[in-house]
Amino acid sequence: MKKFLVIFITLLITFSISAYAVSAPTLPEPVQKVYSPDGRIALLPQSRAEEYIAAGWFDAPVVTIYKPNGETSLVFMSDVHIHLANGWYMSPDDFPKKTKAVALTYDDGPSKYTNQVLDCLERYGAKATFFVVGTNVNRNPDILRRAHSLGMEIGNHTANHKRLTSLSASSIASEINSNATYIENATGIRPTFTRPPYGSYTSATLSAAKQPFILWSIDTLDWKTRNADSTVSEVLSKAKDGDIILMHDLYSATVSATERIVPALIDRGFDLVTVSELAQRKGVTMGVAGYRSFK
Ligand SMILES: [Zn+2]
Repeated sequence: MKKFLVIFITLLITFSISAYAVSAPTLPEPVQKVYSPDGRIALLPQSRAEEYIAAGWFDAPVVTIYKPNGETSLVFMSDVHIHLANGWYMSPDDFPKKTKAVALTYDDGPSKYTNQVLDCLERYGAKATFFVVGTNVNRNPDILRRAHSLGMEIGNHTANHKRLTSLSASSIASEINSNATYIENATGIRPTFTRPPYGSYTSATLSAAKQPFILWSIDTLDWKTRNADSTVSEVLSKAKDGDIILMHDLYSATVSATERIVPALIDRGFDLVTVSELAQRKGVTMGVAGYRSFK
């Protein structure tokens, strides 16, 4: 009886194994890695991978490269070294520094026009400084965050754009400090300098503010003319190394002007830098004083 049982079990096992072999599942489809232009990676079955590639993904890592004239190109990572030897850069931040620099500054935003100014600056790897007003910071915190994340500098232009010379010392401090808090809430960074509204200040205003005031050396009067040609010619006829240029990101004419000024200044050998970088390049450590340019 015992022997019979052993034979039975052996048969049962043999059967199970062969039955399994017959119904063994088909092999899974091979998988493939695919790469998106913005650096994402997906591991997919081959047929899905082909769909992704048809929709603009790649079968090898790709990277965007940049030229100082604003051109960009998407290339295979394995070919990058060839392009880097031919005037391309991994990032606009890697562009070689020029001997001349100016600071473009935009006041009174952020507004619905600021993103277009940022698009242009980003395309050319240019930096600018935005002197923002509290009421607009609280209206458009996302735009300010974008400016900050693109490496733009954020300066304080007070909470309510009041003429500081007509305020008490405590009101001046409050106009500056409350806006600094709004800016910090939006970007995580507290600005370290202020542009007094209308450029109007006295030594008493400075003492109350307890921080540098950044003025300008080229006034485009874009707010008055609302004319791109006039703004462009004002900047291009006057810009010299160390200038601080005043514009307002509140007008479509200023967006059009920016789109012409940025490539033209780069073409003329200027780096477009933040106020802090301009000061640093000129070896100036800012104190509690007014600065119109860094020359
Ligand atoms: Zn202003």
